[in-house]
Amino acid sequence: MWVVVHVCAGLAIAAVVKQPLWLVAVLAVGSHVVLDVVPHWDYTVSRNPVPWGWVDILASCALVIVCLVAVHMPWWLVLMGPLAAAPDFDVLVGTIRGDEARHWFPSHWRSFPHGKASPVPGLATQGAIVALCIAAVIAGRPY
Ligand SMILES: [Zn+2]
Repeated sequence: MWVVVHVCAGLAIAAVVKQPLWLVAVLAVGSHVVLDVVPHWDYTVSRNPVPWGWVDILASCALVIVCLVAVHMPWWLVLMGPLAAAPDFDVLVGTIRGDEARHWFPSHWRSFPHGKASPVPGLATQGAIVALCIAAVIAGRPY
């Protein structure tokens, strides 16, 4: 699952649940496992993962900035977006080390039923999840 989708899910959970913050944090990290099961297309299997990775990271950063500056979400709720995506550092570190087999986060283990789809349906699914999450962020106001 793209990082930006995980960030959106964390923001949506934060916007809807709000408190207690420990529960929001647990749900945000837990959402990473659930989303990794959903059939999706990952650019890590594409021929050009680095440009896609930059697009993903920049979109994630832009989303966080929009939530802070334009949507006026409190920073502790916005933090749940990056927290939901944080387990993907596991994938980044594994890729940099050239050791993709050794991951610490359960939904990145080879034995985990990681969802896979071809690019068009895999991206459409992620787009639909992002749209639902944006609707949840808007519906969760005021924070
Ligand atoms: Zn992941």
